Amino acid sequence: MTGNLYVKVAHDEVQDDGTRYGMGDEPITETAHETPGAIFRAALGRDPRRPWEAMGRCSGKVYVDVPGSPCTVCHLSRAEHIGPVIVTTEEPSTEHPNGAVVSHGHHYQPVARHIGWVFERRERYEDDPTRSYLHERWVTVHTAPDSVTRTEHFADL
Ligand SMILES: [Zn+2]
Repeated sequence: MTGNLYVKVAHDEVQDDGTRYGMGDEPITETAHETPGAIFRAALGRDPRRPWEAMGRCSGKVYVDVPGSPCTVCHLSRAEHIGPVIVTTEEPSTEHPNGAVVSHGHHYQPVARHIGWVFERRERYEDDPTRSYLHERWVTVHTAPDSVTRTEHFADL
């Protein structure tokens, strides 16, 4: 991995009763960091050169589904996941003899790719410093800004 990485940050306000408000997304921004680990440490406030990048403690990871990936539960493809599963076990049991047809019992669960983290920090309202809320920042790491593909649609003459 070479060159600086980019981040996108989405802000949520979580109130004490659990109510959550989206506070908007920042546009994708180039960082001064070349590795995800460096971004992570700075967000935890552990980069003394860049204290303004601190976002609080890490409370979770951000994932995205990999389109077309096999089901992580039964390893069938997305297309094969419709309908019953044919189970073939190496050691047949009365419950699942070879070739027994059983229903899935679960929904298609695509491979999840780890693309970021959630950081949270308690912050005071600017207009009422006696009250505070949990400020969540959903950070995803990108190798480049979003790209757009242009497609020409010709009319038949
Ligand atoms: Zn499955």
